[in-house]
Amino acid sequence: MEREREHLIKPVLGRHYPAIAYGKGVFLYDDAGKKYLDASSGAVTASIGHGVQEIAEAMQEQAGKVSFVYRSQFTSEPAEQLAKKLSDLTPGGDYWSFFVNSGSEATETAMKIAIQHWQEQGRPSKHRIISRRMSYHGITLGALSMSGHVLRRRRFVPLLEDFPVVAPPYCYRCPLRQTPAACGLACADDLDAAVKRIGAEHIAAFIAEPIIGAAGGAVVPPDGYYEKIKAICERHEILFIADEVMTGIARTGEMFGMQHFGVEPDLIALGKGMSAGYTPMAAAMAKDHVMAPILQGSRSVMSGHTYSANPQSAAVSLAVLAYIDKHGLVQAAQNQGALLLERLRQLADRHVIIGDVRGEGLLTAIEFVADRQSKHPFPPELGVTNKIIDLAFQKGLLVYPAAGGVDGDGDAIIIAPPLTITDEELELLVGLLDETIREVTQELTAERE
Ligand code: PMP
Repeated sequence: MEREREHLIKPVLGRHYPAIAYGKGVFLYDDAGKKYLDASSGAVTASIGHGVQEIAEAMQEQAGKVSFVYRSQFTSEPAEQLAKKLSDLTPGGDYWSFFVNSGSEATETAMKIAIQHWQEQGRPSKHRIISRRMSYHGITLGALSMSGHVLRRRRFVPLLEDFPVVAPPYCYRCPLRQTPAACGLACADDLDAAVKRIGAEHIAAFIAEPIIGAAGGAVVPPDGYYEKIKAICERHEILFIADEVMTGIARTGEMFGMQHFGVEPDLIALGKGMSAGYTPMAAAMAKDHVMAPILQGSRSVMSGHTYSANPQSAAVSLAVLAYIDKHGLVQAAQNQGALLLERLRQLADRHVIIGDVRGEGLLTAIEFVADRQSKHPFPPELGVTNKIIDLAFQKGLLVYPAAGGVDGDGDAIIIAPPLTITDEELELLVGLLDETIREVTQELTAERE
């Protein structure tokens, strides 16, 4: 593809980005014929793999009927079915869905529903949202206000809401300097302390990713953490929003990440895996009791986008859910995830720069450190994460960067291939990663000498 000058704004201007010609399963092929193993499912999105014909057919069938209807005028069969299906997939049921187009819109809509829930009960002062230091809930200003991701916030801090943050459950390098066995879940107590300091009468909700994604790299909380969080929320009359944009829809070996912890959120944000990347689709889900005051009050959730609940994306999402069910991909995520974690732990035995290997199902991560004993991170100017990502890319392996460390001061990568990955493809993935880490370690050693 020849381009004389550029018009498309890409992440790094002036850098060459290969154009992808087609995808099949876990592989992508660029227009120069190079093959890539998509070990990150793009941005942890393409969970059923690329080029699935059933989805293209569902898309075509719906497009042949109608692609767009406006939500203020009509509903559609696919959107109605999808809302029912999602509710049925949750352990407790009883969820309503508001369909949007991205994860950022999903978390922001969940935030607005939570605030409106209290307004409709005559409690408008409950409008602040508490999140965690190590978190990412989206790029729009409302979603970014709820995010702790230092790098993504930095330029826009003056525009953001002053929402409080609490300590994340990051046991590998605990921000509260506790040790896991003896801490008594001090990170959960941090939420309690924040609520008491600010006053529950000012707080609408607490938002958290069940397993921390881009801001930490597959950080799984310790046992009992979410039970304690939920109890604190209930005690102070604060809604709990689970941001399942990355963990949702089979990725972690359960349909929803929160199922690992047996806690039912009041609201759920979904995105990415919901349509597995085939069309933009996301949802803010709210339980019956959250919607009740709105149903009895203004009867209208004050939000909406032109493309909300569009039938084309809803039909795709239904087809993706059917595909996941038909091919047993929840179980596949569990099985292949266990195998992948085992292989990554074997890599840790061979490579000194691997500090931690963690994850759940097929949402896994490696954190890199300069010193395994002290867990000291590499100096940021070395750009270790980028070195790994770039070299892997050259070798035809796609992995996803995560900001390791509580305030993004570490190095981590996420490995989250499509849930359809076979044993053979998984061994290929691990082999390429092994080579990449070995070469980057050599480069770092050479730079130090
Ligand atoms: N929440 C989480 C947990 C995410 O991982 C992301 C995307 N990385 C978002 C929200 C934002 O989603 P989107 O990029 O689709 O707006």
